[in-house]
Amino acid sequence: MIVVVGGGIAGLGCARKLEELGHKVLVLEASDRVGGRIVDVRLEHDRGVAVVPGGAEFLHGIIDKPFEDDVEELEWPNYVYFGKECRLERDEAALEAIDEAFRGISGEGTLLQALARTGVPSRLLDLADAVYGNDYGGSLSDLGAREVVYEQSRWSHGEQYAVIRGRTLTTFSERLASGLGDVRLGRAVVAVDPGPVVTTSDGNVLRPDAVVLAVPVGARLAMRLPVPSPDVPTVATAVKVFVVLERPVWPPDFWNAVCADSLFPELWVSPAPNDFPVVVGFVTGSRADRLARRHARAELVRRFLEQLDTIFSSPSTARPATDACLGSHVLEWEEAYTAPTPGAIERQRAFAIPLADHRIFFAGEACNDALNPCIQGALASGIKAAATAHQALH
Ligand SMILES: Cc1cc2nc3c(=O)[nH]c(=O)nc-3n(C[C@H](O)[C@H](O)[C@H](O)COP(=O)(O)OP(=O)(O)OC[C@H]3O[C@@H](n4cnc5c(N)ncnc54)[C@H](O)[C@@H]3O)c2cc1C
Repeated sequence: MIVVVGGGIAGLGCARKLEELGHKVLVLEASDRVGGRIVDVRLEHDRGVAVVPGGAEFLHGIIDKPFEDDVEELEWPNYVYFGKECRLERDEAALEAIDEAFRGISGEGTLLQALARTGVPSRLLDLADAVYGNDYGGSLSDLGAREVVYEQSRWSHGEQYAVIRGRTLTTFSERLASGLGDVRLGRAVVAVDPGPVVTTSDGNVLRPDAVVLAVPVGARLAMRLPVPSPDVPTVATAVKVFVVLERPVWPPDFWNAVCADSLFPELWVSPAPNDFPVVVGFVTGSRADRLARRHARAELVRRFLEQLDTIFSSPSTARPATDACLGSHVLEWEEAYTAPTPGAIERQRAFAIPLADHRIFFAGEACNDALNPCIQGALASGIKAAATAHQALH
């Protein structure tokens, strides 16, 4: 029997693959649901309840055949906003110039240094900070040039932003879990020791043939298993602010903006089906750390609304978003996803190396040596760990 610890995408994908290969599998999940960082939040507001994705929201590519019919691709970015100039526009030329600069980068160092070497103007560097930096989990000076280029080259399913029409990604985790032989919720694992021996928080001790640990970095470190050199992957924090508005306050073709020189570098109108529009502000990495440290949640909401007001104000309405706000919610993620900081490639590879004479294996987005910190990355890491464990046991 093989124990898979963690019922996120990596753990579920791993368990499915192991069952396909003929193994008896037990999934132990600490929380009362599967999906991990794919989670819906209920947002109560003045006119009812909205349900929005609190963690992963977009499919970066089409990942599973059963979804192809109802997957909808969205244009990203749809608008750009230059904070210093207070200008919202569809600026294909600016985005193309950034992509062009990006294609020209080479060498080591930070992404900021590498982009600056291409001679891209500072106005566009600020935009690149929002387009690339925030998405990758940091600002341009936090990220490594070599690592981002590598990550960019490894999007095996495409880079587009897609959603499952009319539903959130919990559909995906639930489908992945359905039909699995033995998934136990509310079973936190407190220790995994060589043997392997698995101890749960309710004192049960299991001695399976192998263990696949598919938990986030912090949970793995808490188990005090050795981490092969060099060091642990950098995991970015993230802050998501949601505001429910009574009515749209944006142009009819608007659904998202990347915002240079702004508190929230990315914002979008949630594609999740709700009666009232929900706008999401997203900030990651050191910027998110600073925001969360400095501001109470109510202040983050106030500032996000202020940013929306500045972007969408008109001669007739100075505070369109603030005046239309029906409710809000803030989620702070201490571990959102791994970031391609300098040295990340080697760290993520090392983090996936099996221990205990090939009886303890690792999966999870931070173990994906292709670096992509997305749900496909998590899924790929789970499938790979299953294949490695299968080989080791035969
Ligand atoms: C705010 C945010 C936005 C994101 N946006 C996107 C996006 O748009 N598109 C995208 O592709 N990706 C996105 N991601 C990344 C994506 O969510 C993750 O890469 C992916 O879900 C990670 O899956 P995982 O299985 O590796 O880990 P997790 O989903 O974290 O699963 C780990 C599981 O292990 C369980 N666990 C932890 N400790 C224990 C223990 N001791 N015992 C038993 N179980 C334990 C946890 O409860 C959890 O269920 C986002 C993430 C965040 C946080």
